[in-house]
Amino acid sequence: MASVKVNRSLCSICGKVPSLSFCVGCERVFCTDHVEQHRLDLSSLLDRIVLEHDQCKQKIIQYTEESKSHPLMKQIDEWEKQSIEKIQQVAVDARKQVLRTFGLFASDAITTMKNLTEELTRAQNNDNFFEKDLRQWMDTLTKVKKELDKPPTISIRKGGSDVPFISKIIINVSDIFDKSAGRISIKDEGKLIVNIGSNGYGTVRSKGEYSTGKHRFRFKIEHTSTHKWNLIGIVSKTTPLQATAYNTLTSFGWIANNFVCLNGKLFANHNGYKSDVDKNDIIELLIDCNQQTIRLTNERTHNTHELTVDIALCPFPWQIQLSLYYSKDRIRLLWR
Ligand SMILES: [Zn+2]
Ligand SMILES: [Zn+2]
Repeated sequence: MASVKVNRSLCSICGKVPSLSFCVGCERVFCTDHVEQHRLDLSSLLDRIVLEHDQCKQKIIQYTEESKSHPLMKQIDEWEKQSIEKIQQVAVDARKQVLRTFGLFASDAITTMKNLTEELTRAQNNDNFFEKDLRQWMDTLTKVKKELDKPPTISIRKGGSDVPFISKIIINVSDIFDKSAGRISIKDEGKLIVNIGSNGYGTVRSKGEYSTGKHRFRFKIEHTSTHKWNLIGIVSKTTPLQATAYNTLTSFGWIANNFVCLNGKLFANHNGYKSDVDKNDIIELLIDCNQQTIRLTNERTHNTHELTVDIALCPFPWQIQLSLYYSKDRIRLLWR
């Protein structure tokens, strides 16, 4: 072990007074005055951490008890508000247009009615009207009434459904890796796994747990060695995580060299499986809890392979399990 050379003669703060105290935390020396200051500095840092801790706890309570205050909920509220405003604006514009057109039509109708009033008054006073007049007046009134309800110069139709007027809000829910064992590191907020150090097994598991329904995940093989060794599959949450996923009980998945893993045992060419994973490939994993199957599809080659998972051997909930062996190999979990 390298020895730490410490200048014990001078205080690390004032650099003047001969020092007496040594801090094992930062390996610095202090004079009597400054050792006190150093402890005070550390105490105020602790106070800040306690404050952060309280705020963090408060946030958990707030988001749990009033979910409306969550930033994601606010994003949904904002989308709702903007969509409603957009609808209201279009409705306001449409009403204005109808009123303007109806106004022109109504003034014509008023003129027609004025003329008719005069004719009817004259007819009543002079008593000189016949069937032809009555028919004509009745026709005029029918036409005006009909056109008042449905002015001939306006119609309303709805826009086509090909381009939606209001954009739909889409909530993407993905998964992340949050547990690892062996020579593997989880990066990019749980989306990227990297083999670290020299060659050696490393395994990760997802945070998500699956017991019902269908779940689709896509992985990008960002780097793979010439041997192309990786394992993609599932495992029962009930089984403890270990670095060597390929021999972990309840492991089901696909490996290099045409091997599949069934309950922690390897089988070559099972149901004709041929490994074809290469660098930059995008691999889809479909977990179907209802059918109790998992399916691997290589989007480049379109090769697809399904495994039946014996629920008696591999009880729910299932978790995604990925494993790497070669140094620097890297797989990314994509958002969709
Ligand atoms: Zn000092
Ligand atoms: Zn210190």
